[in-house]
Amino acid sequence: MACLNCNEARTEYSFDALEVHTLHVRDFGGERVIQALGERVTFEVCGACASEEVRASLFPAVRVLRKCWGFGVVLAVGAVLSLTLTLSDEMIALRVIGPLGVFVGVSGIVGRVREVLARRKVLEAMSESERLRDSAWVCALRNAPKKFGDNDITYIPINSQTMSMTEAELSDRYNLIPAIASLARKNLWTAG
Ligand SMILES: [Zn+2]
Repeated sequence: MACLNCNEARTEYSFDALEVHTLHVRDFGGERVIQALGERVTFEVCGACASEEVRASLFPAVRVLRKCWGFGVVLAVGAVLSLTLTLSDEMIALRVIGPLGVFVGVSGIVGRVREVLARRKVLEAMSESERLRDSAWVCALRNAPKKFGDNDITYIPINSQTMSMTEAELSDRYNLIPAIASLARKNLWTAG
C-alpha cells in the first residue's frame, strides 16, 4: 500500500480505522441523523509526508496565510464599504454590510489563527516520535475519502486509546449517535 498523500511506495506509518457513515435527512420533522459503521480501512503515510506535516504545524506562517486570505478579502471589502457607504446617503441596510464584513473577516482570522496555534501547542508537548505519528494521522485524514454518495464519512482510529474508551467518550469524541457508539465499542473490542 502506498502513501495516501504522495503515493510513495515505502511507508512508515500505518493506521487502522473504522469508517462512520453519516447522513443528514431533512424532512417535515426537522433534521434527522442516520448513522452506520462502514468498512475497516487501513491508511499508510510515508516518513517524508509526516515530517512535512510536523514542520508545517510547528512553523505555521504559510498555513495561517492559506487559511486566512479569504477572510482578509472579506475584511478589506468590508472596510472599503464602511468608508464609502457612510459618506454617501445610502439605505441604512446597506450601511450595515461594511461593518458586518469587517466583523466576519476579523473573527474568521482570529478563529483560524487560534486553531493553528492550538495545534502547534499540542505538538510541542509531544515527543518527536509521537509528533510524527500524530501528524501522519492528520495527513491521512486530510487525504481520506470524506464522502460516499450523500453520506459523510468520518473515521475512528483503532488504537489502544480508542479501545479503552467508553461508549460515552466515543460518542462525544467522534459525534456518534448512542446505537453506533455501542456498536463501535464492540467493534473496537474485537479489533485488537
Ligand atoms: Zn508521502
